[in-house]
Amino acid sequence: MKVLYVASEAQPFAASGGLADVAGSLPKALAAEGVEAAVVMPLYTNTINPAYIAQMAVIAEFTVPVGWRNQYCGVRTLILNNVVYYFIDNEYYFKRDYGLYGYYDDAERFVFFSRAVMEMLRYIDFKPDVINSNDWQAALVPVYYSLLYKDQVGYDNIRNVFTIHNIGYQGRFGLELIEEIVGIPRKFTSVLEYDGDLNFMKAAIEVSDKVTTVSPTYAEEILNPWFSHGLDRILVTKRFKTCGFLNGIDTEFYNPETDSELPANYSADDKKGKAVCKEKLLDEMGLAAGKEPVIAIISRFAEHKGFYLVREVFHEIMALGFKAVILGSGEREYEDFFQHMHYAYPDRVGFYKGYNTALSRRIYAGADMFLMPSKSEPCGLAQMIALRYGTVPIVRKTGGLKDSVIDVGDNGVGFTFLNYDSADMLSAVRRAKELYDKRAQWGKLSAKCMRADFSWAASAKLYIGLYKELHKD
Ligand code: ADP
Repeated sequence: MKVLYVASEAQPFAASGGLADVAGSLPKALAAEGVEAAVVMPLYTNTINPAYIAQMAVIAEFTVPVGWRNQYCGVRTLILNNVVYYFIDNEYYFKRDYGLYGYYDDAERFVFFSRAVMEMLRYIDFKPDVINSNDWQAALVPVYYSLLYKDQVGYDNIRNVFTIHNIGYQGRFGLELIEEIVGIPRKFTSVLEYDGDLNFMKAAIEVSDKVTTVSPTYAEEILNPWFSHGLDRILVTKRFKTCGFLNGIDTEFYNPETDSELPANYSADDKKGKAVCKEKLLDEMGLAAGKEPVIAIISRFAEHKGFYLVREVFHEIMALGFKAVILGSGEREYEDFFQHMHYAYPDRVGFYKGYNTALSRRIYAGADMFLMPSKSEPCGLAQMIALRYGTVPIVRKTGGLKDSVIDVGDNGVGFTFLNYDSADMLSAVRRAKELYDKRAQWGKLSAKCMRADFSWAASAKLYIGLYKELHKD
């Protein structure tokens, strides 16, 4: 079984969000199960570490149609963790200074990328049985396949899976681009059109053999307008081919037994090191030493992450006797709010504004509880990382949070609440504090969290099952 995984970002080469984590770890897990997995992504010349670029071999050069023009494309390759990586090279499109996306010509950049992936198959020694494309940037891959390529020599019998990581970004552009840039004849407008625009994600949902998303609950939720960013109408009609598989985390990388960022290592059987991590974390964040529970937040500050609820009852949480450690950046109102809370409780609230991976691991290890009250959450990795470090999650029951954190009351590993309501969140926090005060029970819960399995092994098997099922038809 040969699987080509198409993504606009992948760890360790270029990352802006969760897609890069998945594209970096799922293919590796597929390879471990005996699948021949390859990944294709753009060669972001200014972002990818030059040491990797130096290792890449150029294996093909050709031109790619973009509307009425032909653009140069080079394909480079390297092998990492038994996975072959292909890089689509065109400096005009991918040598940019300010991040991966957000340019005036993003539509054209990812039209080029998707079309180049299709063209590349003529030149490389890898004929996929299944192509798994991800998010709007690669959404045109299955569209080109089904409208322009599937009857061409060498392209027969490929199945297409499309995976939605973030339904908020759909690749919506003006209809006038259809021939001029996308290069698809106007007679196919109905495949790409949605609510008066071109919508790349909608087109992929339309034509793919299977649509997956990153948790079973989210696959259900996106049928509802509250979550769907407008795509529920098409998703409801394609429900028969949609499903959700929970993402995993890289449990070798996130491992408190070996993590070199931690002041002390520990395991589920011997958690003494976790107490050292807590003590050092309080010190690092300039907080008073003491045995009070430490509740942590590590996040982007975006609307759907639910910090509105935290703001409403922050003082009540503090009145329960907590210390808080917050790492994040994003919407200004939350940055300012947490900064003010640090001023209000200088020795009990620590706030670091920014993105800091090393500090995040010390917080996952040093905190007692991890708060994630998301309004919506396709999968969520932070709660799984917290569990891995024995830090008990407090989450709202939505999307992947619901699928990964079962309440302690149901013999699970965390504290959950259902309504998007600050009083409900507060009562979950209160329940956590009550159990924390029963120290022996808390120790057992924390060890149980560490033993929960969120490795990719289980989900990789689900993907393989899906690929095999598709390919037998
Ligand atoms: P999303 O992809 O929506 O941001 P996830 O929970 O799926 O949310 O993944 C977030 C990842 O980013 C986690 O690995 C988390 O530790 C990390 N992260 C988020 N904010 C920060 C930050 N400020 N500093 C370091 N790591 C962060």
